[in-house]
Amino acid sequence: MVTFQDVVVPEENVVGAVGEGFKVAMKAFDITRPLVAAGAVGVAQRALEEATKYAQERKTMGTKIINHQGVGFMLADMAINAEAARALVWRSAWAKDAGQRNTYHASIAKCFASKAAVENANLGVQVFGGIGFNTEMPMEKLYRDAKIFELYEGTSQIQRLIISRHLPSIYPA
Ligand SMILES: Cc1cc2nc3c(=O)[nH]c(=O)nc-3n(C[C@H](O)[C@H](O)[C@H](O)COP(=O)(O)OP(=O)(O)OC[C@H]3O[C@@H](n4cnc5c(N)ncnc54)[C@H](O)[C@@H]3O)c2cc1C
Repeated sequence: MVTFQDVVVPEENVVGAVGEGFKVAMKAFDITRPLVAAGAVGVAQRALEEATKYAQERKTMGTKIINHQGVGFMLADMAINAEAARALVWRSAWAKDAGQRNTYHASIAKCFASKAAVENANLGVQVFGGIGFNTEMPMEKLYRDAKIFELYEGTSQIQRLIISRHLPSIYPA
């Protein structure tokens, strides 16, 4: 927790115009949210890779667990999450590179990619079974790492607030 009390900033140290800081911060999010979302894609992808490898090694009931449809479907959902999240990150980054205002797409990418990270980490622990809960395996760390993406750089509720406020101008009545 950082608190400021009776802080005086000398005029030469003022960044930008006084009273305009909020706008500067909001524009910064157009750049930082795709970057944070890219980090979430990394967690989602790592969970997919670890779980897919493990599912080809672990055998139950006479076969590799990837051959059990219940496990294969979890891995498929993880692949869908990772691919879709990556595409949304690229979409929002492309808009920024093209000089377009990308607030809407940055929020969509950040919201979806963080959900993908949390879901993939959760499914990844499930694919590993009991050992996924163990600190010797990578999945429990991914599970802990994933949650922060739904919180910092604006919570998922705040992303949805931003997205919903853009909708009337994109799809007028
Ligand atoms: C590890 C870590 C690192 C961080 N790093 C940084 C950093 O580098 N820079 C920085 O500036 N901040 C940073 N933060 C702060 C982070 O951005 C905030 O914690 C986050 O934005 C949520 O704010 P809050 O904690 O005050 O929650 P609150 O605003 O109190 O929100 C509590 C809950 O209410 C919901 N909520 C709040 N308002 C609304 C609304 N209008 N509509 C719907 N739901 C709402 C939220 O989504 C959340 O579920 C960091 C936090 C953590 C945990």
